Amino acid sequence: MEFQKQYNSNYNLGTAPDRVKFCICERSRENVIVCSRCKQSFVGRISQRCPKHPEVTFLMDARQCAFCGAHANFLQVSETKR
Ligand SMILES: [Zn+2]
Ligand SMILES: [Zn+2]
Repeated sequence: MEFQKQYNSNYNLGTAPDRVKFCICERSRENVIVCSRCKQSFVGRISQRCPKHPEVTFLMDARQCAFCGAHANFLQVSETKR
C-alpha cells in the first residue's frame, strides 16, 4: 500500500495552535524562490507540510535548492507572481 500515513513523524512539534490550521495544498506554485546559500533563484514552491493534510506530500515542491542542493531551510520566497 502506498498510503501509509505519517502523522507521528516530525509533525506535532507545535508551531501553530490547532484552531488556526488551514490548508496550504492549493497555494501558489509561481513563487520566486531565492537560495540564501548560492543566491540563485528559481520559480516553484518550497515544500511545506500542510497543517490540515500532514500525510500529503507534493513531489513537485522544492525540498532543496535546484542549483546547489541546499536544504529547504536556505530557501526563501522573494516574491509571488500572480
Ligand atoms: Zn491541505
Ligand atoms: Zn542554492
